[in-house]
This record gives sequence, C-alpha cells and structure tokens, in this order.
Amino acid sequence: MTTEQRVERNLFDEVMVPCYSPMAEIPVRGSGARVWDQHDREYVDFAGGIAVSCLGHCHPIMVNALKEQADKLWHLSNVLTNEPALRLAKKLTELCFADKVFFANSGAEANEAALKLARRYAVDKFGTEKDQIIAFHQGFHGRTFFTVTVGGQEAYSDGFGPKPQAVTHIPYNDLSALAEIMSEKTCAVMMEPLQGEGGLVSPSVEFVQGVRELCDKHQALLIFDEVQTGNGRTGDFYAYQGLGVTPDILTTAKSLGGGFPIGAMLTTTELAAHLKVGTHGSTYGGNPLACAVAEAVIDEVSKPEVLAGVKQREQWFREGLTAINAKYPIFAEIRGKGLLLGASLTDEWQGRARDILVQAGKEGLMMLVAGTNVVRFTPSLVIEKADIDEGMARLERAIATLYNAE
Ligand SMILES: *Cc1c(COP(=O)(O)O)cnc(C)c1O
Repeated sequence: MTTEQRVERNLFDEVMVPCYSPMAEIPVRGSGARVWDQHDREYVDFAGGIAVSCLGHCHPIMVNALKEQADKLWHLSNVLTNEPALRLAKKLTELCFADKVFFANSGAEANEAALKLARRYAVDKFGTEKDQIIAFHQGFHGRTFFTVTVGGQEAYSDGFGPKPQAVTHIPYNDLSALAEIMSEKTCAVMMEPLQGEGGLVSPSVEFVQGVRELCDKHQALLIFDEVQTGNGRTGDFYAYQGLGVTPDILTTAKSLGGGFPIGAMLTTTELAAHLKVGTHGSTYGGNPLACAVAEAVIDEVSKPEVLAGVKQREQWFREGLTAINAKYPIFAEIRGKGLLLGASLTDEWQGRARDILVQAGKEGLMMLVAGTNVVRFTPSLVIEKADIDEGMARLERAIATLYNAE
C-alpha cells in the first residue's frame, strides 16, 4: 500500500497552469451519482463530469473491465492492433451508420481527425479550391487550434496568432444564411446536433434536414460533432438517430469512455479510404485499456432499457425544475434533450448562472452552467430517482437562498 499525502487546493495555484479556476473542494471518491470530498462532505452529482460519467462514478461494469484489461495488456502502439479496439470498433459500426472507426483520446482529437479527413477528401476528389469549412456561432468543437477555429467562440480562438484558413461561421438554425454562403467551394459543414456549451440549443427539424440537402447539393460533407450528445445522452444512442438526418462523419468522446479518456471518428468506407497509411495517427488512440472500458460502457448504454431510462429521467428532471420554478420563478425555459438539459434564466436573473452553481455547491449539489445565463444538467444516464429527488431538494434550497436575498 502507498501512503498518500493530503494536498490542498492552494497547491493548484502554486503548480498548475492557471487556465482553470477549480472550486475549493477536492473530491476524493465517488459512487453512482454521489461524490465525497476530502472532508467527507457528500454531493449529489448532476454534472457527470461534464456529460462524461454516463454510468455514474465507479460503476462495477467499468471497474471490472478496467481491472481485467489492466492485468492483460496496457499499450502496444498502432504498429500492432489489439482485441479491445477491434471489438469496440465493430460494435460502434453496428450501432450507427458508420463502417469505419478512427480512435483518438478526446473530443478535440476526434474532431481534428474529422476536419482533416474532410479536407483530404476534398483535395483528393475535387482539388485544393474546395476548402471552405462552415460552422456555427456558439458552437464548440474542442481546444486544438483547428477545432477552436471551427468552434464559434472568439474568446477561445483569438489571441494565438494566425488561424487555420477558410473557416466561416453563421448563426445556428439559420438555413437561409447557410444557403447564401454555400457553394462548390464548401468542403464541409460541421455542427453539433444540439449545441451543448453554446447553451443547450436544439436544431429545428427543417434546419438539420435543410443542412443535409444543401450539403448534398454542393457535394460538401456533413460532420456531426456528437462528443457531448452521443452515447445515449439524448435518449438515442446517437442524437442524429432522433433527427432523421445522417451525417457523413460523426465524432464521439465524453460518455464513450464513461470517464476513461477516449474519442472516435466514425465514417463511411468511401470516405475512410482517403486517410491512407501515414496520413493521420495517434500514439494512444485505440489503446487497449481505453477501448476495453469503452466497450463495457457502450454494451450497457446501448441497451434499450437504458436508453428508455434516459427519456424517463428527462421527464423527472423537467418535473423537478418546473416545480422549483413554480415557487421561485427564475427559469425562462427548460430546454435540451434527454439528460443534456439546460434551464435558461429570466431577464431579472441574467448573468446569475454561476451564482446558482456556487450556491448549489454549498448545499451539496454538483451541477454545470453553459455560458452565464443557462444552468446545465448532464448527470449519469442511470442516476436513481432518489438521487434526482435529493439533488432537486438541494437545488431548491440553493435557489431559495438566492431568491430570498433579492
Ligand atoms: C467537450 C466537447 C468537445 C471537446 O472534447 P475534449 O475531450 O475536451 O477535447 C468537442 N465538441 C463538443 C460538442 C464538446 O461538448
């Protein structure tokens, strides 16, 4: 046994790059939808590690998969393939439109692969003129320089010098803006099939279908970034399956590993052929440990009863939030789908999302925000009813405190 030395939050400021500003509490263990900090204070987790911990904390299915693989083989490199990666890829292709899989370690890397594939395909098939990538304001696709440039938030992309070229942004849900700027020069349209970081904005059916039609018309690829929406989060295994539109490339990460870092880019045989040997790669992508855990996660999450359970839990969340709002009217709208939900704040409460998050923390509830005007909930997909009820009670106390202080 190792003896671990207790460290405190102040060490963060001493030794960590200051690109984050974590809370004072340091969680040390979790089980299901509950987490405990260093002082043994317990929290209900409505955040799920930002839509990652889809089976809650330390689910036995994940722990067993990790332990079993840990005793067999950790790493090989892509000079060799491995059984967990092949099994996981096969299952992913059975769960969606895709025929081929590229493994990465994160959402940003999956998106980087998608964008590079789209550009490579266009160069191979149509020439270098077809380079335009269209994406949407408030979109989020990760933090590498290409993905941050395609993401529609200048706060994340500016201040690093020259950006990758030929990336254009238009408003989400605005089909005529898209029709106007698309041409034979358009290489790809990249979008989230429900904007997560951008404030839980759902696309209209006409919009997504129109995007698909415009892509077909201009021979442009449609890339769905399902890093946050994927793996059961919206109640479908992938969100596109509930929209009646199929992309050419789909990226997935977050819930895919249930907490173990893994990402994947999924596509068709025809497109995949353009990433020939040597054109792209990753040292850790397709690592046996990550793939073994992800295989266990998707086996569980893809069960019809788990996906149906997401829709049931969405109902419980909506009811809970509506009941709180009836007593303390601070929410303008409850939006999102499945367990990717947001409550936008009324005019009087604009800018207060973080205040609610901080007060909820004091009541023993972990939750999220999306921007300054939306509180966000992305809990475990198998969170128990009792945990939802307890979390809602804590949220109500937090909101009551803020409301009564007005
Ligand atoms: C979180 C997220 C990403 C980035 O994923 P990382 O694993 O942080 O690189 C990309 N796209 C969307 C839609 C996300 O929500």
